[in-house]
Amino acid sequence: MDEFLKLVRMRFVKMDKNNVHDREILNLAVKKNLTKQMDCVELCKIVKETAKFNPSVALSLTAHHLALQCLKNHAKRDCFFAFAMTEKVGSDVKSIETLAEDRNGSYVVRGIKNFVTNAEFAEVFVVTAKRGDKVEVFAIERDGVKTERININCFRGCGISRVYIDAKIPKENLLGGLRLAISALIKSRVVLASLSLGIAERCFEIALSRAKRRGLIENRGIRWRFAEMKAEIEILREFISRTARDTNAVNSAICKLKASELAKKLADFAVEIFGARGLIAHTPTEILYRYSKSLDIAEGTCEIMKEIIASTF
Ligand SMILES: Cc1cc2nc3c(=O)[nH]c(=O)nc-3n(C[C@H](O)[C@H](O)[C@H](O)COP(=O)(O)OP(=O)(O)OC[C@H]3O[C@@H](n4cnc5c(N)ncnc54)[C@H](O)[C@@H]3O)c2cc1C
Repeated sequence: MDEFLKLVRMRFVKMDKNNVHDREILNLAVKKNLTKQMDCVELCKIVKETAKFNPSVALSLTAHHLALQCLKNHAKRDCFFAFAMTEKVGSDVKSIETLAEDRNGSYVVRGIKNFVTNAEFAEVFVVTAKRGDKVEVFAIERDGVKTERININCFRGCGISRVYIDAKIPKENLLGGLRLAISALIKSRVVLASLSLGIAERCFEIALSRAKRRGLIENRGIRWRFAEMKAEIEILREFISRTARDTNAVNSAICKLKASELAKKLADFAVEIFGARGLIAHTPTEILYRYSKSLDIAEGTCEIMKEIIASTF
């Protein structure tokens, strides 16, 4: 793991500047078995540590494992996968326009997906599509899609792309119904919360070290704010690790909601402590500030998380 973390740390600024993925990192992830099935607790730990120094690779791993949960027999391959669900309106999973039609013992799947992480290098895509009036989940090989990189300002270098699907696939590539994708998302939101926690912890560490160097920590107002942030990090860490051991829809939504809020809060605080220097392009504070915003959107927005939590009232 040390060799992997060293490499991802070293390459991150280049990935962010150029928005290109790093083949050596992907190969090393496969070689170190990071793309193999693992339990949620272990995955959360790896994603959190990776996120501290390279949130893009952490998101690649998260998206890969989300797809992997759906892939069944197809999951045996040593490569990266992508999970393609979002279309025009990501929050409404039933409003999709991608269609799957029965055609002489096969399915023909056609449609366009947006903001698909790993799309640039994934070899198999887990895709949601409508067959009749039901949303179902299909596995589609790379040769059944074309991708177009999106110039997004966060999570650069993890292949986020628009995906054009036009594929004829065998019947066994029908993986299951919408329930399969939803249950994979429920687990994955805990992993994404760990990614947010990694960003929050890193922001805390760099802000604290700056505050000590500058003597700002002597100021009680600032010291108490660090104390409050520390308390929030500790509480969240406990809740995430509890939910990773025993996941359910509501607790995973709570993890995702609160962790994305905390990542944004800490990234904002880190920039504040650094002053104008905190906004210099491609420095850790600037990057984490930019990246933290999208964490409340990916894998379901904060509003959707609140709807899930409120659905139990
Ligand atoms: C970094 C990143 C990586 C991503 N990776 C992937 C990926 O790998 N695969 C994939 O399929 N998608 C991916 N996405 C897309 C992501 O899942 C969607 O952006 C997300 O689900 C929101 O959909 P949307 O952007 O279409 O926003 P919309 O659904 O259009 O929402 C816009 C606003 O309306 C609000 N809203 C919508 N519906 C409701 C409602 N019922 N009640 C209250 N408020 C509502 C939302 O909360 C939001 O504030 C990624 C996004 C990002 C930023």
